[in-house]
Amino acid sequence: MSQSSWKDQIKKQWGPHSHCPICGKAMPSDKQFCSQSCRDNYVISEKKQKKKGRYQMIFLFGMMAVMFLFLFILG
Ligand SMILES: [Zn+2]
Repeated sequence: MSQSSWKDQIKKQWGPHSHCPICGKAMPSDKQFCSQSCRDNYVISEKKQKKKGRYQMIFLFGMMAVMFLFLFILG
């Protein structure tokens, strides 16, 4: 192995790259996730968060409705 190829390897390894948002592993910058399992994890967590957000919205609107009801009854 010549010195230039070794340097090229280092460049390849530490060149433009990004980190997996799930496990934090370094990966090629053109990829979104390092592996299929990380992609699955991301999709699952995103779905959960969306569900959570919807429940929070419903809860908030429910609270507001109750507040208005109380104001209406007491006023
Ligand atoms: Zn990953």
